[in-house]
Amino acid sequence: MTDRPPDAPRRIRLRFAAELRFLLPAPYRGGDVRRVHDGRSSLGHVVEALGVPLTEVGEFTEAVEPGHGPGSGGVRSQVRTVPRAYVPRAGDALDVHAVRRPQPLPPGTPGPPRFLLDVHLGALARRLRLVGVDTAYRNDSDDDTLLERANAEQRVLLTRDRGLLRRHALRLGAYVRGDGPDDQLRDVLTRFAPPLHPWSRCPSCNGSLVPVPKAEVAHRLEAGTRRTYDAFTRCRDCDRLYWPGAHHARLAATVAAARTAVGSAEHLGGSRDSGGGSGHAE
Ligand SMILES: [Zn+2]
Repeated sequence: MTDRPPDAPRRIRLRFAAELRFLLPAPYRGGDVRRVHDGRSSLGHVVEALGVPLTEVGEFTEAVEPGHGPGSGGVRSQVRTVPRAYVPRAGDALDVHAVRRPQPLPPGTPGPPRFLLDVHLGALARRLRLVGVDTAYRNDSDDDTLLERANAEQRVLLTRDRGLLRRHALRLGAYVRGDGPDDQLRDVLTRFAPPLHPWSRCPSCNGSLVPVPKAEVAHRLEAGTRRTYDAFTRCRDCDRLYWPGAHHARLAATVAAARTAVGSAEHLGGSRDSGGGSGHAE
């Protein structure tokens, strides 16, 4: 390194975790990115410029090899955590890790996790509410409104808009993986492992559902429904009525899949240190 001319390019190497590679430009999807660094930008900035929102990054690490050189073949390399504000230097080789699953909320954020969904995720919003996860959603919010509301209510903003996740004012955000709502539901549940309370929230408005005696609502039911069903719940906020009707089997399958997803996430959380690789500083 000492014989490097002072104006030689500052080459750095970033290795992205498999879970992050789909976010990279096509030529880099192998995960190994070699760049000429400008000597000023932070590591976080370099990663964002490659298309990877920092909401998706768990930590940056650097391999530190004690006593490299002849005779050090048996020495185990160690790993050091590097902050996102670090300005890379020539020759750096850094690993970019994905967030851990399940991902804990930052210290000071009241749990369990609550969500705000961007306007394109209406079908996911209904599914999250079906399984009882507190989910705010409107189909007419602009980006500024979403950002302000997520911050004010300490909700995790879920979106597939990477530009929104790059807004530095946003406190809690996550990129939703999956093209369809069932895949997206599994992604969110395995990522945050929220407690589930199926059938307790109104899929339309996120209000609480409470049981209501049939006699009290019979006048609002069509004759066929009145004949066939006996158990009803009512939304405290919007007054909609629910009963286990024609779509029940499909909804029950979604609930069962959700329980499986959260169960697998909790299992991962319990054994995260055995297969994860790097240790976690701070
Ligand atoms: Zn409602």
